[in-house]
Amino acid sequence: MRWRAGSGGILAARTLNGNAIRDQIYAELQVQIRELLALGIRPGLATVLVGQNPASQIYVNSKIAACDQLGLASWRYTPQASVTTGDLLALVDDLNARDDVDGILVQLPLPPQVDSKKVLEAVEPAKDVDGFHPVSLGHLVTARPGLVACTPLGVMEILRRSGTPIEGADAVVVGRSDIVGKPMALLLMHANATVTICHSRTRDLANAVRRGDIVVAAIGRAGMVLPDWIRPGATVIDVGMNRITDGREAQRLFANLPDRLAKFQEKGFALVGDVHPDAVHVAGALTPVPGGVGPLTIAMLMSNTVKAARLRRSQTMAQPAPASTP
Ligand code: NAP
Repeated sequence: MRWRAGSGGILAARTLNGNAIRDQIYAELQVQIRELLALGIRPGLATVLVGQNPASQIYVNSKIAACDQLGLASWRYTPQASVTTGDLLALVDDLNARDDVDGILVQLPLPPQVDSKKVLEAVEPAKDVDGFHPVSLGHLVTARPGLVACTPLGVMEILRRSGTPIEGADAVVVGRSDIVGKPMALLLMHANATVTICHSRTRDLANAVRRGDIVVAAIGRAGMVLPDWIRPGATVIDVGMNRITDGREAQRLFANLPDRLAKFQEKGFALVGDVHPDAVHVAGALTPVPGGVGPLTIAMLMSNTVKAARLRRSQTMAQPAPASTP
């Protein structure tokens, strides 16, 4: 644990405030959207939400609310939970064919009878604002321009806009999912970091994480990355979003945070990341949960929708606006 010289207080990491960075990005997007509107183009996002999953409903509502806030068009399709793969493929085909739809978002998870991969692969790559299509992933691997998965893209915005040196840095990504860990590692590598990818079979995870000047935790396990795994002064990006309800777990995570423990006891649950909150006393900079990576994921979805509109409809535009994201 580091102590602030002379003050007697514990030195805390700089908070990387995702809400403030999201607001900056929205302000920039609003300029681009105004330019597109002047050319008669209103970027639009179509969402497909199958069934009644409450978490998915909350996510889709936030995405539609962000479209409303920025003045983007949005459509919400809500097929029943009994929908077939064929029905969804037909819907995606319709959306692919529409000129006013720039982005198509199929909210995951889909029900078990649906072939999710087939549905995601049916989305026209030019409208793949989630960046999940194999063509989009191929563009990312080969560092070609294209649409990139929103969460890792948001992490890069946090790093760049907070002035974190990336080139030459040792970056450790814990997690290798197709939607977070893998694209994250590729983006960091393209930004000239030396990247280590860790996963559930990594031997001595603590030591691997300790090498990181930058650590990105995308595991899905509450407070798993412990303070003594963090290199002092490292930049720690906590992608994890875990809802805890167990009192002992809360005690383990909030022993030094009486306010958060009291809030947990009052509400019966808390949202926590994959990094133990006490890492704040070792890291140089840290994203909070909530309020860190989460707001950027939606911001980058908006950014991808505007980018998709610009790229796909650029032939009808007098002067394409410059891209704000890679
Ligand atoms: P995922 O598909 O479940 O992948 C988790 C990864 O963590 C896997 O690669 C897994 O390794 C690895 N892992 C699991 N247990 C581990 C262990 N004990 N040691 C080392 N590695 C371990 O999850 P995801 O979709 O990438 O999401 C990760 C987290 O980010 C979740 O908490 C999710 O809720 C959150 N998330 C947040 C946002 C946001 O906007 N804030 C967006 C997306 C995701 P294997 O490959 O070996 O199984």
